[in-house]
Amino acid sequence: MSIDEKEEKKDFIREIIDEDLKTNKFQGRIHTRFPPEPNGYLHIGHAKSINLNYGIAKQYGGKFNMRFDDTNPSKEEQEYVDSIVDDVRWIGGDFEDRLLYASDYFDKMYEWAVQLIKAGKAYVCDLSGDEIRDTRGTLTEPGKDSPYRNRSIEENLDLFERMRKGEFPNGSKTLRAKIDMAAPNVNLRDPIMYRILHESHHRQGDKWCVYPMYDWAHGLEDSIEGITHSICTLEFENHRPLYDWFIDQLGIYHPQQIEFARLNLTYTIVSKRKLLQLVQEKHVSGWDDPRMPTIVGFRRRGYTSESIKVFCDKIGISKKDSIIDVAMLEWSIREELNKTAQRANAVLNPVKVILTNYPEGQVEELQAVNNPEDESAGTRIVPFSREMYIEQEDFREVPPPKYFRLSPGKEVRLRYAYIIKCEKVIKDDKGNIIELHCTYDPTSKSGTPTANRKVKATIHWVSAPHAVSAEVRLYDRLFLKENPDETEEGKTFLDNINPNSLQVLTQCKLEPMLGAAKPGERFQFERMGYFCADIKDSKPGAPVFNRVVTLKDTWAKIEQKDIKR
Ligand code: ATP
Ligand code: MG
Repeated sequence: MSIDEKEEKKDFIREIIDEDLKTNKFQGRIHTRFPPEPNGYLHIGHAKSINLNYGIAKQYGGKFNMRFDDTNPSKEEQEYVDSIVDDVRWIGGDFEDRLLYASDYFDKMYEWAVQLIKAGKAYVCDLSGDEIRDTRGTLTEPGKDSPYRNRSIEENLDLFERMRKGEFPNGSKTLRAKIDMAAPNVNLRDPIMYRILHESHHRQGDKWCVYPMYDWAHGLEDSIEGITHSICTLEFENHRPLYDWFIDQLGIYHPQQIEFARLNLTYTIVSKRKLLQLVQEKHVSGWDDPRMPTIVGFRRRGYTSESIKVFCDKIGISKKDSIIDVAMLEWSIREELNKTAQRANAVLNPVKVILTNYPEGQVEELQAVNNPEDESAGTRIVPFSREMYIEQEDFREVPPPKYFRLSPGKEVRLRYAYIIKCEKVIKDDKGNIIELHCTYDPTSKSGTPTANRKVKATIHWVSAPHAVSAEVRLYDRLFLKENPDETEEGKTFLDNINPNSLQVLTQCKLEPMLGAAKPGERFQFERMGYFCADIKDSKPGAPVFNRVVTLKDTWAKIEQKDIKR
């Protein structure tokens, strides 16, 4: 199935929603949510989830909540809360005034737990975490009943109250649902609802020392907020019976949980735990390192939220796990920037060219096209003079076969300008090329009647006295393997890190206009790729650029392109 056909087809979640609207299951309401745990920065997988949940709310005229699932105080921090809110807004998830926190429902959840105890559906258990795990049984064998399973309701109420008051140390007691230790679904074997944790919560401070477990809390949060479709990833499919059980036992409003496949991308890690490890062990410069698949990383790299949305829409959603080619994501930003990015000339690895027959001190103002895809972008002036920079790659002292760019005695066209011929190669005592002495053909100026003489290649250039010096950072994939988790015995995903994923070029020469680039502004550097002025380090007059993505053309193909020009 082609991408376009897929787009026309409704995804299975929207089909469920259409059906629910038909049967009036939720009285015509649609209400979704995005429920991150504030224990890390958001990544591209979360973007898919936001795009799905917000996209549904928007399409059906419903509502979308932003809710922090902040039920685990030990790993959660305000820094993450702030960054997540920022990222969700940037991705375009409009939650209006509904910025919500699961921790605000702790009182209600506690009341409901008491209600279950009173109904004989929950009990305080003194087994340790290990003992609970060991008595849980396996997929083929039933578990064993806890010796505390048949405590009286009064005793359970008393113990649970004292757990809350802080009378017991961490790990000494839990509150468990009383379901069935022989249930075929292990999630239903008396799951833990509360554990004791004497830790401060980022919003609740020291008010609580019992904290709810995900499975207990999540459905209650959805129910309180009146969520209609609680969309989560596939690993929760086996938890749905428990989600339903808690809500049914309490007799409260019942949202519908629906699972879809999480996004996996080639050459990319989308696990918060592993991303945290990359940051903490300084394999990258931070959460916003442009090589990170985090939203802040993509943003700093120069991706637009629109391109990420286009990507999410293209890949669609499914019920089966798969791995998406990261090239799809690169394609979506390239497509957008091809249409929108202003073209510019930048020489990343410069070598100086001196036009020995060009008058000293003369400057010509040449017209350059701003965007061939968008006529309304107009043209700009670029200065041309006696000294300029070209790419080292565009000169070969000993040209290989089919190399049509500059070499001794050979000609090349400087884009928008003249045909030049290499007359002499100047080297230092170590044999490094420091300058190329060339002559220009005054009759060959682009756009003039005598300019029709053809040469096989056209290259870009920057006038040396007018050039702006800059740092340019070239990024490559952070991992060498398509599946970074595929490792030999005893190795980890860290051993698959690409040691050449960042190349910093400090000698770059840019055309004058780029000196005024604003942080976050994006350009196509002709023949070199799409670049974005770094939002942290770039300053007008001292630009720093990140490569967002390469052009479709690799260097190998440029040779063919040159022939066509
Ligand atoms: P954790 O292991 O810390 O729970 P998580 O990636 O599940 O990590 P959450 O903060 O719980 O992180 O995720 C918030 C929401 O984003 C959840 O609804 C989750 O299903 C969804 N989500 C997370 N990762 C992906 C992914 N790779 N693709 C699609 N959705 C995802
Ligand atoms: Mg999760």
